Amino acid sequence: MKVAIITGAARGIGLATTKQLLAKGWKVAMIDWDGAELSEAAKGLDNVLTLPHDISQPEQAKQIIAETLSAFGQIDALVNNAGIADFGPIEDTDFARWRAVMSINLDGTFLLSQAATDTLKATKGAIVNIGSISGLRASTLRVAYGTSKAAVIHLTKQQAAELGEYGVRANCVCPGPVRTKLAMAVHTQDIIDSYHDAIPLNRYGSEDEIASVITFLCSDEASYVTGQVIASDGGFESTGVGLPSLRK
Ligand code: NAD
Repeated sequence: MKVAIITGAARGIGLATTKQLLAKGWKVAMIDWDGAELSEAAKGLDNVLTLPHDISQPEQAKQIIAETLSAFGQIDALVNNAGIADFGPIEDTDFARWRAVMSINLDGTFLLSQAATDTLKATKGAIVNIGSISGLRASTLRVAYGTSKAAVIHLTKQQAAELGEYGVRANCVCPGPVRTKLAMAVHTQDIIDSYHDAIPLNRYGSEDEIASVITFLCSDEASYVTGQVIASDGGFESTGVGLPSLRK
């Protein structure tokens, strides 16, 4: 039975990915710093381990790997999904806000991957990092969030370059907008309308539509895919001007 670690697994895209991998016969270590929501999410799920840790803390990142290995014996995939969003103008993004975003979205992804490197080499496992369309294309209010996700995209390529010779794959999924708690905390009605305008498929995505791409990249079906950035975004990244005018 293959084993995955999924961070930010208490809800949203992480929980949907957990359920899809369980359905494919994997065991899943569900990581989330919100212990109460994590326990609630895991109720009724078999073959899971819940670890209420903070991925941005170096010691806790090491603990996540050690505790997963002691429960499940191996790690075949690491899904670095936990993240926070903070939208604000450059002038209002003080150092504390900047660091909070970087420490989770970027540092946490780096720390957990680094702690898992040895064990992933042993299984020729996979890393799937979750970026964002905000890391592919700049937009207003996303100086910290967008920059953290652009760095996650490049970190993925660094990981693919360095770990490829050990058979470890690293890929990045960049979701478009999904109506999760994270997104709804920062998407005003105006932003929602703008996304609809800018997305060829003309709608938000679902947690499951993102999870299925993550699940594919974890699997042996993607055994020759590494260093890739795949947007699951309804076409957002591919387009330029003109969509709203065409629709009128
Ligand atoms: P969500 O808020 O529903 O879930 C994120 C989970 O991560 C939460 O349960 C939260 O408690 C957990 N988490 C946050 N910081 C943590 C930490 N330091 N340690 C452990 N757990 C932590 O959000 P989501 O929309 O499902 O987001 C999942 C990923 O997808 C994030 O990386 C996000 O940036 C990315 N993303 C989301 C959207 C979207 O529109 N929802 C778009 C692009 C990218």
